[in-house]
Amino acid sequence: MVQQIAFIITLGVAVYFIRKRILLIRSTIKLGKEKIINDNKSARFKNLLLVAFGQKKMFKRPIPAILHLFIYVGFLVINLEVLEFVIDGLFGTHRIFAPYLGGFYNVLMNLFEFLAVAVLLSCVFFLIRRNILKVKRFWATEMNGWPRLDANIILLTEIVLMIAILTMNASDQVLQERLSDHYPATGALLFSSLLVPSFQSLDTATLIFIERAAWWFHIVGILAFSVYITYSKHLHIFLGFPNTYFAKLEPKGHMENMPVVTNEVKMMLGIADANAVSSATPGRFGAKDVNDLSWNNLLAAYSCTECGRCTAECPANITGKKLSPRKIMMDTRDRMEEVGTSLAKNGSGLNDGKSLLGDYITKEEINACTSCNACVEACPVLINPLEIILELRRYVAMEESGAPSAWNSMFQNIETNFAPWKFSPSDRFNWANELKK
Ligand code: SF4
Ligand code: SF4
Repeated sequence: MVQQIAFIITLGVAVYFIRKRILLIRSTIKLGKEKIINDNKSARFKNLLLVAFGQKKMFKRPIPAILHLFIYVGFLVINLEVLEFVIDGLFGTHRIFAPYLGGFYNVLMNLFEFLAVAVLLSCVFFLIRRNILKVKRFWATEMNGWPRLDANIILLTEIVLMIAILTMNASDQVLQERLSDHYPATGALLFSSLLVPSFQSLDTATLIFIERAAWWFHIVGILAFSVYITYSKHLHIFLGFPNTYFAKLEPKGHMENMPVVTNEVKMMLGIADANAVSSATPGRFGAKDVNDLSWNNLLAAYSCTECGRCTAECPANITGKKLSPRKIMMDTRDRMEEVGTSLAKNGSGLNDGKSLLGDYITKEEINACTSCNACVEACPVLINPLEIILELRRYVAMEESGAPSAWNSMFQNIETNFAPWKFSPSDRFNWANELKK
């Protein structure tokens, strides 16, 4: 009874904090500009299935992809076991599904254990890769401090949780032999049975203590981890799904026009729709802060895994420029969190004297972008850092007239000569005159 009450309180506290964070994340994403994305649903579901569920883009690098798949499948499947943990915790039962599922329960438990070991080994590999082999993309400056610690906390937590499952199962198997009334038979468990000999010599009271401690450690760990995820880059395990669904479907080179500018041009040509002009008038050209970006840009920032594949492919970054597309996404998320948290406490929110452009992302960074889309191609969850960069650049160019002087002369040429070069349109075919001679 005491355990049941303790479990209900623990579960209630976790649900309270998870709900609070989900509401905050939702309202923070809603800071973004409205954008209706409901076209081509079949292509969107295909992206969801192949890229999010199937992890298609991860397989460009097969070894990390397979290990990541173990962690991902392990996370999904092992959490089925958590359902039994919760029912046992609420009703004071022990392995409630075992008598009902019979031999299938043994199959399930062995599958869970296989995945637990696979997750454990994969996490060890990833820890070594990050901290001992020091793969370059995990050691960029934007990964210093919390982001690196966050990644290590996640990997270590998963290792410890998997060890708890195996410990619980091993002590449980010995207890099944000694107190069969209380401990339903699970059948032989492949991996935890390797630990059984070291538990045989322990007395029953100690074994019960170990089994209960491992059970509590695992379930409290899972609940605490669930709260932690909402503060962490690990949020991608949930938000990666909607992000792939709402990802851009147009060809990568396609840039969204600003309707108000398009209509301005059409007006000059005498083909503008007057209603479209008034309804498309924006408050601001481009983006200075997170509320100037669309909601799906903000969802993407929360979905970023911080893997750095985008930065590793970015030609600006490779050639030593200050730009890192991963940092663009991390900065966007940090600014969203700052504004969202402030608003939740009735603080100044967006009016805190700061902005995404300037306080988080500099002009030097956005000006270094070649708009090549390599980052978009590299991203395993279909994030588009270029969209954010272009919006920030639009703000600088159109609201501040702050584009680099070399660009301004190019803009001037386009305006007067309809081409980036300083030649009159009437001279455009002069090169062909040479051919006649
Ligand atoms: S589009 Fe810009 S940020 Fe992305 S890879 Fe190319 S240069 Fe880098
Ligand atoms: S934007 Fe995509 S590729 Fe870049 S760090 Fe985030 S998840 Fe990785």
